[in-house]
Amino acid sequence: MRSVRSAELDALLVTHPADVRYLSGFTGSSGALVLTGRRAVLFTDGRYTEQAKQEAADTKVVIAKGSPLAAASRWIEASGAGRCGYDPMQTTVSALGAMRAALTPKRRRGLFQAAEGMVSRLREVKEPAEIATMRRAASLGCAVFEEMLQDLTSSRTEVQIALELERRARSAGAERMSFESIVAGGPRSALPHARPTAAKLPRRGFVTLDFGVVWDGYCSDMTRSVSLGRVSPEARAVYDSVLEAQTKAIERVAPGVRAGEIDEAARSVLRRSKLDAYFAHSTGHGLGLEIHEQPRIGTNQMQELRPGMVITIEPGVYFEGRFGVRIEDMVLVTEVGHELLTTSTKALIEL
Ligand code: ZN
Ligand code: ZN
Repeated sequence: MRSVRSAELDALLVTHPADVRYLSGFTGSSGALVLTGRRAVLFTDGRYTEQAKQEAADTKVVIAKGSPLAAASRWIEASGAGRCGYDPMQTTVSALGAMRAALTPKRRRGLFQAAEGMVSRLREVKEPAEIATMRRAASLGCAVFEEMLQDLTSSRTEVQIALELERRARSAGAERMSFESIVAGGPRSALPHARPTAAKLPRRGFVTLDFGVVWDGYCSDMTRSVSLGRVSPEARAVYDSVLEAQTKAIERVAPGVRAGEIDEAARSVLRRSKLDAYFAHSTGHGLGLEIHEQPRIGTNQMQELRPGMVITIEPGVYFEGRFGVRIEDMVLVTEVGHELLTTSTKALIEL
């Protein structure tokens, strides 16, 4: 693996399940993958003998008698590696202790070196097969959203809507939801991360649906705020500002543009209509095997976008105790600009 060599490491120990899956194909919960310049060895336990062989067909699989992490650590020492990187963001203090405890005392200091985010940086840029999968996840999400419009009535509760979302997604083939779906009606739409409750949807007011589906391991993510009944002129103006902020940010997405510039494109629209104080989160995030990945699309983020990245653009405005609006799409960075992966309408829907 080129990045192992370029980081002046002899090996890399990868334990975060999404990273292990990305590099080897193995989806089990217990796996420690060791990469050297030329070899990849996956350590797992006896529950995964069959599955590891099938999923990680190109990787040597070792079934550890005890802890796969300890077995991997001993293997690294025996391989003669001088420096082995691990990801400090994905390694608990106790796991690092177990890695070191598996070594002979003279190697306990020095062998394992923090090497932050080496795999997550690789994962930022999606390969064509990954993009095809994410396109599929995004369009499945859109199809589910469009079907859900018929279910949004004031006789139903947020929890019932969330259940219906998941039922429709899974019957269309989703493995699971990307995260616990957000269904927030009326004043609760002002809570950016509202959990569904037993509250009924309002007779008149916004309902925000923020959800994603997982297709073949990859997440989708989208948000629409839909109005039950006619919106007030004030609510329409807020909706239009959020939509303009989202549109302007998407228009800026292109290779070489810094993440912070995308965030600023959204924020400056809201600033003009004096709504920026009500937009209290980042503009977006990368996604893929996990719902939140690099890059973060936030204020002053210097990271430049590259072709193959998939990010969300999701500005929102929230008036405490009254209502909130958020619009979120998935956007692919292409060689020349960008492509929208979630294509459901953003024209204000009044049901
Ligand atoms: Zn979302
Ligand atoms: Zn999101």
